[in-house]
Amino acid sequence: MLNFELYNPTNLVFGKGQIEKLSTLVPQGAKILLAYGGGSIFKNGIHEQVINNLKDFTIVEFGGIEPNPHFETLMKAVDVIKEQNIDFILAVGGGSVIDGVKFISAAVHFEGNPMEILQKRLLIKDLSKVVPFGTVLTLPATGSEMNSGSVVTIQATQEKLAFGGSALFPKFSICDPTVIQSLPKRQLQNGVVDAYTHVLEQYLTYPHEGFLQDRIAESILQTLIQVGPEVVENPSDYALASNFMWSCTMALNGLIQKGVPSDWATHMIGHELTALYGIDHARTLAVVGPNLYRVMFETKKGKLAQYGKRIFNLTGSDDEIANEAINKTVAFFHTMGMDTKLSDYTKEFDNTASFIVDRFKERGWLGLGEKQLVTLEKVKAIVELSY
Ligand code: NAP
Ligand code: FE
Repeated sequence: MLNFELYNPTNLVFGKGQIEKLSTLVPQGAKILLAYGGGSIFKNGIHEQVINNLKDFTIVEFGGIEPNPHFETLMKAVDVIKEQNIDFILAVGGGSVIDGVKFISAAVHFEGNPMEILQKRLLIKDLSKVVPFGTVLTLPATGSEMNSGSVVTIQATQEKLAFGGSALFPKFSICDPTVIQSLPKRQLQNGVVDAYTHVLEQYLTYPHEGFLQDRIAESILQTLIQVGPEVVENPSDYALASNFMWSCTMALNGLIQKGVPSDWATHMIGHELTALYGIDHARTLAVVGPNLYRVMFETKKGKLAQYGKRIFNLTGSDDEIANEAINKTVAFFHTMGMDTKLSDYTKEFDNTASFIVDRFKERGWLGLGEKQLVTLEKVKAIVELSY
């Protein structure tokens, strides 16, 4: 097993009715920026619940953080925080609002142009230079509620870039599984597939000595396969909703990544498809992931075979099982309502592969994945196979 440090300071407050604890979680006397997205929290009553539980605090509201949050929008929130001397941010929303708040938190005291945080992928480690924040999660998917990563889109250049650092863990996150009842089917499907792919990014690498990490990863995959199709049909079933929500958090709170290699090339390529065509994050992963496993078959087949045996009970030679495991993954994505070809989302896909390769080249991303073997040539092959 590889050496590791496990640091995760987020106080995760999980369960029905937990929004009532807000006033005890926010620092006493704090002036709060309440950050939210396009307004779903007004329709489903979450805004009212939040406000009712923060009666004794001064709140300034900032709405309009879009899915795949824009740098340009987030900088407006940075101005509000500076003008109004805000000392705490509360993100109420899904991954986009939470990721957006992580950027805002890092940008307020940043010396220089905050765009550099994204372009230079700066590591944000100094707790004295960020604005503390907490979250009320409304969409299980990204794990952003219990990790220190974020993805932000620069609208001007149509780039979607990841950054993060140990200073960007939420102070607390309230995860109430009953909030998913108002989610559209499409977002529930997205949540299952995003979380499933997060596990695969950390699991489908090469055989290693992290036996426990593998078993934990497999149990998250099995739970998502068990509850995913059902929770989409019946999000008010608490057993389904709570297992779905907890699986999404566990998929990307750092635990299964400790002491083992991880890949993340599916996400890196997927981000480009969102930036170019506006395709939902999870749907880009369903397009890219299986083709990445096909192109990187030789390096991944050991783990693909283990995955096929343990998750899908497949039998045969390791090569046969590994191949069939990819087909089973695609079938699961179809069950979850995903289209898995780029041409299902856009008719203008002809130059996508060379465009992405050029961008990766400009950024110096010459080898992605657990062994940096996803070279530009492989990226091209993966994207072309996705057409
Ligand atoms: P999202 O973009 O936050 O939200 C998608 C849509 O769902 C929005 O229109 C939102 O509406 C709506 N919504 C959220 N909660 C709702 C509820 N309870 N009821 C009804 N509608 C609701 O989706 P997401 O999948 O959570 O986040 C995706 C983003 O996270 C992407 O940018 C992706 O790249 C990023 N990501 C981050 C990480 C990480 O570790 N940080 C990992 C993977 C992906 P409103 O805007 O009106 O709220
Ligand atoms: Fe993701």
